[in-house]
Amino acid sequence: MATERTLSIIKPDATRRNLTGAINAMIEGAGLRIIAQKRTKWSKADAEAFYAVHRERPFFNDLVAFMTSGPIVIQVLEADNAVQRYRDVMGATNPANAAVGTIRKVHAESIEANSVHGSDSVENAKKEIDLCFKPAEIVG
Ligand code: GDP
Repeated sequence: MATERTLSIIKPDATRRNLTGAINAMIEGAGLRIIAQKRTKWSKADAEAFYAVHRERPFFNDLVAFMTSGPIVIQVLEADNAVQRYRDVMGATNPANAAVGTIRKVHAESIEANSVHGSDSVENAKKEIDLCFKPAEIVG
């Protein structure tokens, strides 16, 4: 298996409830190493750029409003098979459908306020990491 990197975001519903540490314990417990980390608050333009691929979806404006509603913690995770490994730890988009023990099953509030983002492919992970971090900010 190849060592991969993926992008994680702890979303505003989770930072509001003081869950950064609880979520990162689940991430690290699954063997993913946190090799870059920043807490920030996105502008509307930041969120629109990150979610540009979803621009045509009916929930786009709601998603941008939610992702700019409070602080977020953006991280790069590294492991063998990191993209799929983190998707498995996150659980399904809708917490109602998420497997027992996943971050979204344990912590998410709704299909929108679902606590975490994770890249959905190696290709998108590269794009998202490049958008959010300078190379010198990533320390493996
Ligand atoms: P993910 O890869 O599991 O995060 O899911 P998607 O890429 O399909 O969607 C991106 C994000 O948009 C999700 O994580 C949710 O925060 C939000 N989202 C997805 N589907 C819906 C929906 O039907 N309604 C609303 N309001 N938000 C949604």
